[in-house]
Amino acid sequence: MIGGIKTNMKGETGIINLYACGETACLGLHGANRLASNSLLEGLVFGYRVGICAGESVAKRKKAFKISNKFKDEKLKELDMEDIRKSLKSLMTRFVGIERDRETLLEARKEIVFWSSYVLRRIFSTPEGWELQNMLTVAKIIQESALFRKESRGGHYRKDYPAENDIKWSGKHIEFSIKDGCRVGRI
Ligand SMILES: Cc1cc2nc3c(=O)[nH]c(=O)nc-3n(C[C@H](O)[C@H](O)[C@H](O)COP(=O)(O)OP(=O)(O)OC[C@H]3O[C@@H](n4cnc5c(N)ncnc54)[C@H](O)[C@@H]3O)c2cc1C
Repeated sequence: MIGGIKTNMKGETGIINLYACGETACLGLHGANRLASNSLLEGLVFGYRVGICAGESVAKRKKAFKISNKFKDEKLKELDMEDIRKSLKSLMTRFVGIERDRETLLEARKEIVFWSSYVLRRIFSTPEGWELQNMLTVAKIIQESALFRKESRGGHYRKDYPAENDIKWSGKHIEFSIKDGCRVGRI
C-alpha cells in the first residue's frame, strides 16, 4: 500500500478526535509520493505539530473523554484467528501482490468479505483480535483500490492494464471511505 489516512495540515482525520501523522498519514505535503529521505523529517515536523494541535483540542474540551475499558469478550472457540491471519497474508501475496489482475482481485475480494463477516462484527478484548480486524480492513482497501485503478503506475502493476493512463490518473489518487468506497481524488 502506498498512501495513508487522509489528514489536513493539523493531522485531523475524517473521524473526530482521531489524528494521524508520520508514516501512517497522507498529508498530500509531498504531492503524489514522498521523495527519499523526506519521511523522517515529515515525522519529526508533523509529530510535533499534530501533537500540539491534538493537545490544544483536548484542553478545550469541557468534558473528559469516555473510554470504556470493559470489552465484551465473545466466545472465540469457533474462530481460529491464527488461521485467518496466515491465510490473509498468503492471499494478499498471491492475489493482490506484485502482479495482479481483475480475476485475482475479485477472488481476493470474495475471501476478504467472507472472513470479515466473521471477524469485523465481533468485540474483542485482545490486541490479536483488533490487529486481525485492522489487517482485514487494510487488505480490503488495498484490494478495492487495486481493482478500481485500471492502469499500471509505480509500484502498482495490473497485468490486464499494463500501461499508464495519464488522461484518467495523472495528478489523481484514490480516496477510500467506508461510506463511498473508492473514488478519484486530486493530489
Ligand atoms: C527500509 C526502510 C528504509 C527507510 N529509509 C529512510 C531514509 O533513509 N530516510 C527517511 O527519511 N525515511 C526512511 N524510511 C521511512 C521512515 O523510516 C519512516 O517514514 C518513519 O520511521 C516513520 O516514523 P513513524 O513514527 O511515523 O512510524 P514508525 O517508525 O513505524 O513508528 C510506529 C510505532 O508504533 C508502534 N505501534 C504499532 N502498532 C501499535 C499499537 N497497536 N500500539 C502501540 N504501538 C504501536 C510501532 O511499534 C512503532 O514503534 C525508511 C523506511 C524503511 C522501511
